[in-house]
Amino acid sequence: MMTSDAAKHLSEAVTFRTISHADYTLTDYGEYRAFLEFLEKTYKNVHRYTKRVMISEFSPVYHLEAKTKKYPPILLLGHYDVVPVEESTIKDWAVPPFSGEIREDYIYGRGTLDDKNQIISIMEAMEEILEEGYVGERDIYIAFGFDEEIGGMNGAKQIAAYFRERGITFDLVLDEGGAVVEGVVEGLETPVALVGVAEKGSSMIRVKAKGDGGHSSMPGRTSAITVLSEAVLRLSENPMKPRLTAPVTEMLRGMAPYMGRKGIFLKSIDRSFPYLSRVLSKSTTMNSLIRTTIAATMMNAGTAPNVMPQEASVTFSARILPGDTYENVIAHMMKVNRHLPLEYETLVKEEASAVSPHDSEAFRKLEKNIHKVFPETKVLPYLMAGGTDARKYEGLSENILRFSCIRMNNEDLDRIHSTDERIHMDNLRVMIEFYKVMIKG
Ligand SMILES: [Zn+2]
Repeated sequence: MMTSDAAKHLSEAVTFRTISHADYTLTDYGEYRAFLEFLEKTYKNVHRYTKRVMISEFSPVYHLEAKTKKYPPILLLGHYDVVPVEESTIKDWAVPPFSGEIREDYIYGRGTLDDKNQIISIMEAMEEILEEGYVGERDIYIAFGFDEEIGGMNGAKQIAAYFRERGITFDLVLDEGGAVVEGVVEGLETPVALVGVAEKGSSMIRVKAKGDGGHSSMPGRTSAITVLSEAVLRLSENPMKPRLTAPVTEMLRGMAPYMGRKGIFLKSIDRSFPYLSRVLSKSTTMNSLIRTTIAATMMNAGTAPNVMPQEASVTFSARILPGDTYENVIAHMMKVNRHLPLEYETLVKEEASAVSPHDSEAFRKLEKNIHKVFPETKVLPYLMAGGTDARKYEGLSENILRFSCIRMNNEDLDRIHSTDERIHMDNLRVMIEFYKVMIKG
């Protein structure tokens, strides 16, 4: 296969080490500037025919004005920051992770699946459309985050504020998210396009227990460590109740016809849920879709092997289902361990996102456009367990959808944020075609 220009562009995009760090002072903004210059140089039409503003210096927002404004504008999102490559894993890569090498029609490198593929696809689509002469009937906005991987506070959040101040709202906001997955859901015999209509909230809570301290040669019957251990154990044995949310119900129902005998129960999930929830809870993926999860992720206690600890703490990561709140989570934690002397501290409080409707005009339109590049693929709403920039745009559109128009199997999913991240040239081409129909439609 001949290497396409788009593939070469993505390959070059990978070579800029636009790695975001939780500590912003560690970020090498020279790489960011060079990347933005590369976009300017590569996508001449886009930079000639759209109005570009820079938010927080590094987030470009492009505005393509239509001659007639029959429909409200849409907003296409992506982010060009990437996660680092762990030093010790570089040797496991087939090619150096920032070389952008193309091998057997795959473009390799950090960001080829998350999310420079999206940036390049949107830009290629725009460039091609402008070449042909855009005659759409709505304004198109494009915005790229530069700190998505570390929370999007300076990118997406400020871009959203910019739109809010100007009273600009959208028919649709489309960000990265679900994909056309194959063989990812156990028992599902057909590829499905999963469109994220909501995200779980991600909150962090630290729980502390205090002890008397003293020498370990004369320990008490309980200590800060035993109290905290009991708390952790009780919480893992007493999870929050499983519950169906609209996107998950719709997803399971939509999958039913392709699930063989299991499908019979999924079809009437409303009624079968009290029984089925026990089976679903056994799969970590399914479990995450039907309940707020509270997982102990860090534990701290003790300073020396022969000293009783005066304090022990554990950090919980709570992933909050739409409909639940941070308050519910704390209340549940306190109830389960009401007999224990514990202190609760909020580290990060983030609620679940709003849920976009899956029966809207905008959703149907997206479905139609997906069918143009993936004919006969079942399009279903779903709930994302991870976070994206999209949630920052709440209030700017009724329809905030999360979908990457790319085919993914389990192996591809494992490469995201990991070793040998890569994308096939055909996949990249499909993404570009998809954005072309999105922009034109
Ligand atoms: Zn991403």
